[in-house]
Amino acid sequence: MKKLVGFVGWRGMVGSVLLKRMLEENDFEKFIPVFFSTSQVGKKNPKFKKKILPGFLKDAYNLEELMELDIIITCQGSDYTQKIYPILRSSGWLGYWIDAASDLRMNKDSVIVLDPINGKNIKQSIENGLKTFIGSNCTVSLMMLALGGLFRNNLIEWISFSTYQAASGGGSGYIMDLLQQVYCLNKYLYKNLDLSTSILKIEKDITKIMNKNNFPVKNSLVPLILNLIPWIDSRMNNGQSREEWKMEKETNKILKKKNKDIIKIDGNCVRIGALRCHSQSFLIKLKKNININDIERIISNDNKWVSIVPNEKSESLKKLTPLSITGTLKIPIGRIRKSSLGQKYLSAFSIGDQLLWGAAEPLRRVLKFLL
Ligand code: NAP
Repeated sequence: MKKLVGFVGWRGMVGSVLLKRMLEENDFEKFIPVFFSTSQVGKKNPKFKKKILPGFLKDAYNLEELMELDIIITCQGSDYTQKIYPILRSSGWLGYWIDAASDLRMNKDSVIVLDPINGKNIKQSIENGLKTFIGSNCTVSLMMLALGGLFRNNLIEWISFSTYQAASGGGSGYIMDLLQQVYCLNKYLYKNLDLSTSILKIEKDITKIMNKNNFPVKNSLVPLILNLIPWIDSRMNNGQSREEWKMEKETNKILKKKNKDIIKIDGNCVRIGALRCHSQSFLIKLKKNININDIERIISNDNKWVSIVPNEKSESLKKLTPLSITGTLKIPIGRIRKSSLGQKYLSAFSIGDQLLWGAAEPLRRVLKFLL
């Protein structure tokens, strides 16, 4: 019998990318989908291939409806997970829970899913009866796919990173802020962008508009357009942001590394005005001196999504920008060179679509494993 799979959060950034991918791969033929919402209960089900599915959106807080499902896949966010997951489990629900939110990732009964890296562990966990499967943080997934060969061959001593994370990483509200900010500036530029205006005057006027109290920053809190935000998520006791903290913790959980085997990973996570796709720059201390050709071979042989971009300006501009990989599953890695710090220090830069490999794709793939 086909399984009942409930979708919560399918209207959001991650959820809508998930549905699109599942349609592309004909995944919906393998189960019966049931769609939920926290705000649109009773409205029509989503449209698939221009046809609206029969039926209406169910209430994502209705425990009786949820208890009937074999699998719940949620991209709704932390508040929903915190509220519903414990009640469902304590009510005896034994179905599979698949989640994009971070809350359950570090629980001992949860598996962080990124199957090109930990597929064996995922399959073993399913056999062992585990029921909770959580996607990793987006920058963690993208880093691990880019550097998968170095992780797999145990070549990394530590990593220092800087991220350049897109607005859409903050969800639909965040991207609306960015677009409203564009619109706000456009109203001024439309009238003032001509050759007779002094460029310094324009710069001054724009700065003034961005500093006004009515500039739209509901979610981003400060302007993101023509600016950047050097803090993502909450503060940890050690001064890291939670986004920075996740890099070491989740990576080592995925690799099942503990105690003295833990790979040290630290750096800064920064939000920039890119629409979609997270970029990261790495300084990696290798355990031994390996030549660049071998490093590139090890990296590119690891999985079919990673590709090496030659360390040339023209290639980097063509293949190593957020715009060039938006909407694809590609994980390009470039700017690969030995750092001037020494032969064991590797410098590199990578990009990935944080809504695909960084969020929706690992969830879609674990659902297929479970089915
Ligand atoms: P999101 O776009 O804000 O969507 C979450 C929910 O907000 C939707 O399911 C929808 O729920 C509601 N919503 C309110 N206004 C909406 C609008 N105008 N358009 C669409 N939905 C709207 O959040 P998200 O970015 O997808 O993130 C979901 C979870 O995935 C979070 O836990 C996040 O941390 C995690 N995650 C996100 C990313 C990313 O790149 N964005 C990457 C990895 C993990 P209702 O239908 O119930 O109203």
